Amino acid sequence: MEDKIHDVIIIGGGIASHTSALYTARANLNPVIISSLELDQLSLTTTVENYPGFPKGIQGPDLIKNCKEQAKRFGATYVEGTVNSFTKKRGYFESIVSKDIYKSRTVIICTGASARKLGIPGEDKYFGRGVSTCAVCDAALYRGKTAVVIGGGDSAMEESLALYKFADKVTIIHRKDQFRASKIMQNRVFKLKDKISIIWDTAVTEVLGDGKFVRGIKIKNIKTNREGEIKCDGVFLAIGHTPNTKIFGGKIELDELGYIKTDKRARTNVEGVYAAGDVQDFIYKQAVTSAGTGCMAAIESEKYIENLKATGKY
Ligand code: NAP
Repeated sequence: MEDKIHDVIIIGGGIASHTSALYTARANLNPVIISSLELDQLSLTTTVENYPGFPKGIQGPDLIKNCKEQAKRFGATYVEGTVNSFTKKRGYFESIVSKDIYKSRTVIICTGASARKLGIPGEDKYFGRGVSTCAVCDAALYRGKTAVVIGGGDSAMEESLALYKFADKVTIIHRKDQFRASKIMQNRVFKLKDKISIIWDTAVTEVLGDGKFVRGIKIKNIKTNREGEIKCDGVFLAIGHTPNTKIFGGKIELDELGYIKTDKRARTNVEGVYAAGDVQDFIYKQAVTSAGTGCMAAIESEKYIENLKATGKY
């Protein structure tokens, strides 16, 4: 167990976290960033076209790698692991990673949000064997095969656009009769109507397989209740995300969807604890807003430490 009380512990490994790390490192707060092996959203994506400063776009994994390197250059320390317990103690916070205890005066939570599942039969059984939440990672495995993408948001559009380059046939299945994705992404999909087909008003009710791999899905039209089956080799879930806030429940105020509540200054209801990125953002979920809130949380934690010093509480 460490006796040292760090100024800042940052939990999570996405762009919000690396930005907090960069700012707190440059403020001489020697941040320690604890992140698990689970890949952040940008590491699961391909070209990022809407992050300012890259007129030709940048690959998501490269953007993350660069941000991490930049933070390290100013002295940020990275620790691999999952924080499985978080507790407020007298005068510090305790974050436990397996048997290691990290103490800190401030904590910046950047744990992000994980891909949601449908909770239908066959989904878990065939997860990783045809069922996937990341077409960008798995698309190349579908050369000459058929795939379905479930959802109607930007992720569903992005997954379909990644898949059609490899798969023989891509079908988007959406529970409504229109997408909620941005117009530009929808238009890219609509333009490829000979390659990407769309089934509206339809729910997927079961993933079918041969015991080893996905072979199809069962579907049901929500308006007519008509049921059917579609043959396919891949089922890509693009139905949104759930914030990773389990360990903070009952300790930090969450909203009704489980996102951490923050004020305009990235502060949670617990003094000294800040949140940035997707874990506190149901609305925007953009790389640039994540980085922005990471910066805000860092500046606030710096001010908090300065205040502790000024009032003799450090
Ligand atoms: P999202 O916008 O929340 O969309 C989720 C989609 O899944 C919705 O169409 C929703 O249907 C559907 N859905 C949710 N639960 C379902 C269920 N149980 N069964 C069937 N369908 C279900 O999530 P997202 O697409 O992951 O996007 C999240 C955020 O990231 C957005 O702000 C988006 O703009 C951003 N993003 C941006 C890009 C990009 O710019 N390149 C790429 C990916 C994501 P309803 O429409 O009926 O609610």
